[in-house]
Amino acid sequence: MLDEARRRALIETAARSVIDHADELTALDQAIGDGDHGLNMKRGLEAVLADLDSLAAKPLPDALKAIGMTLVMKVGGASGPLYGTLAMTLGKELPADPTRADLGRALGVAIEAVKARGKSEIGQKTMLDVLAPVADALTHGGDPAAVASAAAEATIPMKAIRGRASFLGDRSIGHMDPGARSSALLVAAISQTAE
Ligand code: ADP
Ligand code: MG
Ligand code: MG
Repeated sequence: MLDEARRRALIETAARSVIDHADELTALDQAIGDGDHGLNMKRGLEAVLADLDSLAAKPLPDALKAIGMTLVMKVGGASGPLYGTLAMTLGKELPADPTRADLGRALGVAIEAVKARGKSEIGQKTMLDVLAPVADALTHGGDPAAVASAAAEATIPMKAIRGRASFLGDRSIGHMDPGARSSALLVAAISQTAE
């Protein structure tokens, strides 16, 4: 049962896992971007935590929609609108107490919404390269956290085609994508808490 205590634990653990890795995310973004991904995500997720009581009291779809709006407003950069779209679409697509199959299907729809918003595709060295294999694992089987971690690692040899890292061309090769890493952190925290 996804009751208020469990919703609170999920939101809090997910937000803290990224906040606790803000320096690492910033270092990754310093290598191939403008060095603000850790700070952007920290600002947005601290705003989510500030609202934790009211978020946890809402049914999951409403909580996700509210989180999405906060991320759009507070994260900024490219990742704010994209993570915001992801959360808002999950809020539209998920029932109040989702099964694993519900999560896989809703994440698939949310990924399509992120692609449309970012004019991006799988394989361009972005957060999508973690989210897509996670949706696949949720639907067809596999450990989402392990899949996410391997998928983030797999962005290292990729060449960036979207986002600031694409300005570097071949020099983006050899570094993990910051958004792929933040997505893997979120997936790991959520799947651990949902167990
Ligand atoms: P900015 O690049 O504006 O400074 P952030 O540093 O917060 O924003 O976020 C960068 C991350 O956003 C990238 O590592 C990548 O994963 C993701 N990203 C950027 N552009 C796109 C896009 N068009 N589609 C999907 N993800 C993207
Ligand atoms: Mg950046
Ligand atoms: Mg920026």
